[in-house]
Formats: sequence, C-alpha cells, structure tokens
Amino acid sequence: MRGYALAETELASFDRQFHARCRVQRPDRYRLLEALPADAPRIARGGGVSYVGASFGADAISQDLAAFDRLLAFDADTGLLGVEAGARIGDVQRFALAHGWYLPVAPGHPRASIGGCIAADVHGKNPARDGTFRAQVEALELLQPNGRTFVAGPAQNRDLFDATCAGFGLTGTITRATLRLARPPAALVLRRVPVQGLAEAARVLREAANAPLLYGWHDGRAGHFGRGVIRIGLASDAPEHMRAARQPAPARDLPATITPLPFTLWNPLGIAAANTWLRARWCRAGQAPLALADALFPLNDARLYFAGYGRAGFAEAQWLLPHARFDAFAGALAERVARDRPRIALVSSKLFDGHADGFAFDGAGIALALQLPAPAEPAQRAFLEALAELALAHGGRPNLIKDSMLDATTARRAIAGFETARARLAAYNPRGLLQSELARRLAL
Ligand SMILES: Cc1cc2nc3c(=O)[nH]c(=O)nc-3n(C[C@H](O)[C@H](O)[C@H](O)COP(=O)(O)OP(=O)(O)OC[C@H]3O[C@@H](n4cnc5c(N)ncnc54)[C@H](O)[C@@H]3O)c2cc1C
Repeated sequence: MRGYALAETELASFDRQFHARCRVQRPDRYRLLEALPADAPRIARGGGVSYVGASFGADAISQDLAAFDRLLAFDADTGLLGVEAGARIGDVQRFALAHGWYLPVAPGHPRASIGGCIAADVHGKNPARDGTFRAQVEALELLQPNGRTFVAGPAQNRDLFDATCAGFGLTGTITRATLRLARPPAALVLRRVPVQGLAEAARVLREAANAPLLYGWHDGRAGHFGRGVIRIGLASDAPEHMRAARQPAPARDLPATITPLPFTLWNPLGIAAANTWLRARWCRAGQAPLALADALFPLNDARLYFAGYGRAGFAEAQWLLPHARFDAFAGALAERVARDRPRIALVSSKLFDGHADGFAFDGAGIALALQLPAPAEPAQRAFLEALAELALAHGGRPNLIKDSMLDATTARRAIAGFETARARLAAYNPRGLLQSELARRLAL
C-alpha cells in the first residue's frame, strides 16, 4: 500500500442500463494518481455523467478526478485557459463568460468534466459551425499506468492527441488541458421554425448552418413522427436582447445522479401529454431573446424529465446519417415507427459538418437522437435493433458514448475504420490495464 485508499461503491450509467460494484480511488494530489500498483486495471472518471458505463467497470479501479478541478492559468488577451481535467464544464463556462469568453463546444450536462469532454470528443449546440470538443483543445497532459507523462495537442504528439480524443480514457488519464476560448455573441435571439417532418427539418438545419445554436426537437409518436421545431439561436446586439443575457447560477446545475420516480411518467399517455405541451409551447413560428447561459445548459430544467423514466431507465440511440441518405432513412424510420408503435419520449436533430476520425461521433450529415424508456422490454429493444439496422443500411454512424444498447458487432459494421482505431488505442494500452464496461462491451 502506497498511501492510496479505495472505496467500494455501486456505480451506474446515467441511463441506468448498467451498474456495477466498483473500487473507486478519489485522489486529491498528483502523487496519489500514480500510487496504484503498476499492474492494477483502472479507468479515469470525470463527472461520471455519461449515459453509458464508460468510466467504470466491474474489474477496474475508477480513478475519480473530482478533486482536480482547479482553473490554473488564464490569458485574458488570447483566451487560453489552463485547467485541471476534473474541472466541470459548467464552472469553466461561468468563469469564461464572466471574463468575456466562452467555450462554443459544450455538452448539455454542466457536470461533465473537461477530461470527460476530451475523452468522448463531445459536441455542443452546433457541431456544423464549431466542430467537436477537440477543436478547442490547445494541449493536454496525459499520465499512463506505467507512470510516464506526455504532452499532446494538434501541434505535438499528434497521434496520441488524436487517439485520446474519443479514446474514452483508454490512452491514459488526462490530468490537465489548455483550452482555447472564443468570444461569445453579445446576446442571442432564438428563432423557432416549426417543421412537419424530418426531411423538412434537415433542410432548415442546413440553411441555418452558421447559427451559434442550432438543433431540432421532434415528436416521436406514430402518426406525428418528426413533427416539431428547429431552434435557431442567432447572434444579436439589440438592447432588448442584451438585457436577457445573464450568468447561470451553480445551484441550478443538473445533478450528476437523478433519483428515479418509483413509476414511469413516459407511458403512452405521459408521452402524449408532454408532446402536446411542448408543441403548444415551442412549435409556433417566432423569436424571443435567449440568455446564452440558458442556451448552453437547457437541460438544467430537465430533472423531472430524467426522473420520469423510473427505475427501468432509458436508452439513447444517436446516429449520424450522410446528407444524401437522410431523407430515405427518415422515411423508412417513420414507417417503422408507424408499424411498431414504440414508446419514444424524445427525438432531437443536429447538423454536422466534420470529419469521421477514429471512434469520434463526427462527419457530414444530420444526427438524430432518440430516447426511449425501458429499453430492456422486448418490444422497445426490438425497435432499437430495427433502428440500428435501418441506420446501418443508410450509412449511419453511432455515438458510442451515448448508446448502452449498442453491441460490438453493430459498432464494427457501422464504423469503417474500427480496426484501425482499435489498434491505435491498443498501442497506447499495450497491457490492457485501461478498462471499462464500454470498452468491454464494444471490444474497443
Ligand atoms: C444530460 C446529458 C446531456 C448530454 N449532452 C451531450 C451533448 O450535448 N453532446 C455530447 O457530445 N455529449 C453529451 N452528453 C454526454 C457527456 O457529455 C459525455 O458522456 C461526457 O464524456 C461526460 O463527461 P464526464 O466527465 O461525466 O465523463 P465520465 O462519464 O466520467 O467519463 C466518460 C469517458 O471519459 C473518460 N474520462 C473522463 N475523465 C477523464 C480523464 N481525466 N482522462 C481520461 N479519460 C477521462 C472516461 O474514462 C470515460 O471513458 C450528455 C450527457 C448527459 C447525461
């Protein structure tokens, strides 16, 4: 024993589809990060808010970086910000906004850590405009189980940097990063464009490609499938819009774990009621001022939504379809929904215009995310399998950090460079000591 302590803890994925009793180390100084026996299987854990079991596994020690949450250095002229990897994205955004900067790429959960955002190469509110998280990383520091540390970035150790972004912790533990902040819009005005289906949604998304905020919400019910609204956040300097710009309060942050209700709200009646309410509230053409802070973390008000999945939890399937195949995919999906009538609580759409590298969720096309209650129920599961087959048939790419129901065979079929990406990770994890449920399930 070299001064480290382990706690036995039950850990669960945010979607509640995987849980395991794990050993967790909560180091609070750098020497403890290096104190585990050299042959101990391990995996880094940031905020622990991934939908899937990416930062823990039954046989691995989770190294929780929550104590490494300091902001280390800031250059107010260039917008370069040095942080420890456990710093939360919500805290970083608050600091940045207070100093006239922001991170354009930030996921919807404010408790995601910087390390977790790099390791999953997450996307933000308009990936077509801003790219994925790696686009704003100037450099990172990485510690490997053998005690060696590396600095990597777009300009040095490029292969290690590329493997670490969307490497899901399997190249080592990121300890620090230097982020490149951007200037935020003075204020935002939110334009709502109602759409009658997904093909129309795709057209509206493409036309608004340069908006700082751009995503669609859609009804997932048979008979209404795809109907919804595209929310387009546009930069504005009108005084009435500037008055709406304000800072988010930390107390409002969505918690890392949400206690489920003892029953599910998202049965057919609940889903119908929620869709009717959202349609009345959101799906009217028009525009209104929007606080940037609210735009960055809209899910801060979604506690009841997630609790409402009950103990059976939910699954999210997110697929990125190439533009040329999207309309055909959306049509086939609507037919399948009409036939199977699955319970779908939420559908959202986003525009991408990047490059598919390694395991990253990126490329050029339209991404569709579907959230379904109780994915272990046979009918729900059968629909998710049918959705995966449809996406595969139309050239779709899955988001590995979101989808607990994805299996290794499907991931291999969907990701053209799967073997190359796997071999690249293996080169940085030669003894296989970096392990997680995600890595085991998908044989990464
Ligand atoms: C409500 C909600 C909304 C979300 N919105 C979005 C979104 O808009 N866009 C999007 O892309 N994703 C989104 N996500 C997914 C989420 O942003 C990612 O799963 C992210 O990785 C979570 O960060 P974390 O710190 O909690 O990571 P964890 O869950 O702790 O870990 C995730 C992965 O990162 C690795 N990791 C964590 N820290 C380190 C480190 N220091 N060094 C090396 N590896 C590390 C882990 O090993 C693991 O493989 C959302 C999730 C939720 C629950």
